[in-house]
Amino acid sequence: MKTEFSLAQLANPDIAEADKILRACVHCGFCTATCPTYVLLGDELDSPRGRIYLIKEMLEKDRPPTKAVVKHIDRCLSCLACMTTCPSGVNYMHLVDQARVRIERDYRRPLAERLLRGTLALVLPDPKLFRTSMWLARLARPFAALLPAPTTPSPTPSLLRRIRAMLALAPGALPAPGAVAGQVFPAQGERHGRVALLQGCAQQVLAPRINQAAINVLTRHGIEVVLVKDEQCCGALTHHLGRDDDALRRARANITAWMAEAQAGGLDAILVTTSGCGTVIKDYGFLLREDRDFAGPAAKVSALARDITEYLAPLELKRQSRGEGDIVVAYHAACSLQHGQKITQAPKDLLSKNGFVVKDVPESHLCCGSAGTYNLLQPDIATRLRDRKLANIASVKPNMIAAGNIGCMVQIAGGTSVPVVHTIELLDWATGGPRPGSN
Ligand code: SF4
Ligand code: SF4
Repeated sequence: MKTEFSLAQLANPDIAEADKILRACVHCGFCTATCPTYVLLGDELDSPRGRIYLIKEMLEKDRPPTKAVVKHIDRCLSCLACMTTCPSGVNYMHLVDQARVRIERDYRRPLAERLLRGTLALVLPDPKLFRTSMWLARLARPFAALLPAPTTPSPTPSLLRRIRAMLALAPGALPAPGAVAGQVFPAQGERHGRVALLQGCAQQVLAPRINQAAINVLTRHGIEVVLVKDEQCCGALTHHLGRDDDALRRARANITAWMAEAQAGGLDAILVTTSGCGTVIKDYGFLLREDRDFAGPAAKVSALARDITEYLAPLELKRQSRGEGDIVVAYHAACSLQHGQKITQAPKDLLSKNGFVVKDVPESHLCCGSAGTYNLLQPDIATRLRDRKLANIASVKPNMIAAGNIGCMVQIAGGTSVPVVHTIELLDWATGGPRPGSN
């Protein structure tokens, strides 16, 4: 794609990067076939190619985002299916990230929208505030039915529709808090490695059992696990809201904490059980490439970051009898894992090797609609995607559904009675831990 940035514009490293990305695009449109919003809405401007044109126009003309640009960028899930499909290697992720930052900086959203986004950016990354908000949502849930229900799904939902969606996603009860920052879990038997495990923000409130399962599996196989003190939200949630000052502040704080831990006790890897977070931590090196003090450490942290299944894949796990017959597991490939990190086979191989009958879900490249805060901000598109995902999952008749991302787990569980578990919970069960759902 021909671009027309001036030399002065190209002196800005972000614009130089956008120029490189835009030039790689040959307008072929292959990406449209796998883009969930194009598949659902059929509008070229809700396809990757259409959005790339909108972003190009905004950046080249150096003008504030228009209402139309904001509408179509807001509808993008950042699922990155387009990057998997693109034959030219267009880095759509770095382009749309720039567009979101520009929208946040230069576009004045209506007051209610600003308040909503501000609240999400404040509450979601803070486990204490998030726990309180879940408790309040539980109290408010009976009143959700009084809020107006949409007669037809809308790609531009009202504030009340979004509040209704948030209340619907809030769990009926919260589990007790899990392991706390600063704890070290020694390896059982001879120590073969030492890792940090990202504690996460929403996940530690909604499902502390996931990281507990990871700790069980790792320590059982001779790996010491550290929950690093002073670690915080990885920044993914605010990064996807275009609030990069907040996201980068969190990234720097985490890099400082992890590098200090690596120097003090040694770290073979930084493990992540939420693939949405893993994708962003693996991108810290890029996000901080222009930061004189942090570029080097950020690159080191990104090189150390591993999804839990990526780390376990080469290990021979000590499989034990589960005492049950065949369990058919529908493997839901989270977008951040399959498209963001290109990890497709490891989780399925681990499950098969450890005694589960793994079924691929038809249309597995399509997002379930969770996508960070997407199911809260765009509930109607998100619900359509979820229902499509659930129909595809039902077609393989599973006993359980496995996924590697808490956002997907909550989204899918909202529409099915089939248990939805994390891949690591099944691996814990297969190697001597509790049956998921029994503790
Ligand atoms: S990230 Fe997903 S929703 Fe956004 S343009 Fe790409 S495929 Fe479409
Ligand atoms: S598939 Fe790649 S090169 Fe083709 S239009 Fe989409 S982004 Fe551009």
